Amino acid sequence: MLDSAFLNSLTGIVGASQVLTDPYDLDRYSADALNPARLYGRSDVFDRLAEVVVRPSSTAQVASLVTLAAQRGVPVVPYGGGTGLMGGALPVRGGMVLDLKGLEQIVAINPIDLTATAGAGVVLQDLENALAEHGLMHGHDPYSLGIATVGGTISTNGVGYRAGTFGPMGNQVVALEVVLPDGRVLNTRAVPMYSSGPDLNRWFIGTEGTLGIITQATLRVARLPEAQNFATAAFPDFTQGFHAVGELLALGIRPTLLDLTEEEGVVRLHLLFEGFREGVAAQERRALQVCAQFGGQDVGPEPTLAYWRDRHQAGDNYRRNALGKSRRERWSRQRGRGFDYLHLALPISQVLEYRRRCDAILSTHDVQVVEYALWSRPELFSMMLVPAEGTGERSQSDMGQAVDQVLALAQDMGGIMEYCHGVGVRLDHLLPREMGLGHDLLRALKQTLDPANIMNPGKLGL
Ligand SMILES: Cc1cc2nc3c(=O)[nH]c(=O)nc-3n(C[C@H](O)[C@H](O)[C@H](O)COP(=O)(O)OP(=O)(O)OC[C@H]3O[C@@H](n4cnc5c(N)ncnc54)[C@H](O)[C@@H]3O)c2cc1C
Repeated sequence: MLDSAFLNSLTGIVGASQVLTDPYDLDRYSADALNPARLYGRSDVFDRLAEVVVRPSSTAQVASLVTLAAQRGVPVVPYGGGTGLMGGALPVRGGMVLDLKGLEQIVAINPIDLTATAGAGVVLQDLENALAEHGLMHGHDPYSLGIATVGGTISTNGVGYRAGTFGPMGNQVVALEVVLPDGRVLNTRAVPMYSSGPDLNRWFIGTEGTLGIITQATLRVARLPEAQNFATAAFPDFTQGFHAVGELLALGIRPTLLDLTEEEGVVRLHLLFEGFREGVAAQERRALQVCAQFGGQDVGPEPTLAYWRDRHQAGDNYRRNALGKSRRERWSRQRGRGFDYLHLALPISQVLEYRRRCDAILSTHDVQVVEYALWSRPELFSMMLVPAEGTGERSQSDMGQAVDQVLALAQDMGGIMEYCHGVGVRLDHLLPREMGLGHDLLRALKQTLDPANIMNPGKLGL
């Protein structure tokens, strides 16, 4: 329970209007886009609510708030768009939720350095719009472009539609400004490669706010493409499509968008090539030849164009129906039988064997796979699972067991259980198993930086 002296100190830093204690606000900031159905009975993570929500608008305010919290041992939970799917922003130990959307300034756009510097709370779509005015764009384009923030996407190391060329959000980071758990402010330097010691940006990429709060980021940006060519290939089966994707990668062809999806027995590869005109034309021509080699039939640009136009629909629906709403309203979006969406990564040579073993495991459960996919690279394999029809009550716990088994299988075959959404509270029980000694190192780093464990405690198994 936070006392009034503490709350008064918060008000002294950000002003009374930016300190929220109304039960409705505490409720709505105690959720992100994780639906309790995906916790398979572990819903105790929703037992605690935020004790206060604070909305800073500058790095100095964040630093003062964190310093105060460190003095008092109060948990601090960084909160960006609140669109994370793993519960990374849940206040599982109560304390103070810091809504960082007030750090909304686009500080600089530099067409010569090909960088943009933005506050952690800038929504990616707003950054994209500002860059377009300078003939530029950035490389992270998730479904949630219109609702996710710079700080949140770095902290989960998200993957988007353009990852085929640009890689995950972490690869866009050139420099960071971070408030450490004791309130000091770290600034890294805006250069593309590091050999003067380690690249400290990596400590904060994908670490879900457990080691510090990102307040500002300098990101790599690119010219808007001179040409955009869309192509679609239909394959007789997933295996042939998979081999075509492997061959594209081996040849050095890098489509910005690459999505091989099998749904209801139909296998399609969506490709988008972007860049300078001659390069785009050459890559598209050769890619379609490679597809044909593996039985892929060129079905024209239209299916991929339609896919590209609709790519942010899920995010836009989420903004309209759930974002910023109460937990009850957010959770009521889970309808019907429910589903789970797994995104794991394996060495290329293991992916087809993994799928075969997975199918064998899932056939012993009341679970059906309704979609298999590769996104941006052959190593990045995803599956959408639903409980089999007519399985009723027992389906949830059975689905939970099936999911854990196939995630553990990915680990056992040399891979990882999640390539884009983070760990949060949803997967933390499996993280020490995956990281081994690496998890002890992470814990040691955490203890050094944050001995009182105030920074997003209870995440990443810390
Ligand atoms: C409809 C929909 C579609 C989605 N599509 C995609 C997709 O295509 N690709 C993808 O990768 N993800 C996707 N997601 C998941 C989500 O959008 C991403 O995980 C996103 O990166 C989260 O950003 P956020 O700003 O909402 O972060 P939040 O959910 O607010 O936070 C995520 C994590 O980062 C921490 N955090 C937030 N801000 C900071 C900061 N400034 N400093 C330190 N830590 C911080 C939080 O504590 C939490 O642990 C989707 C989600 C939805 C609802």
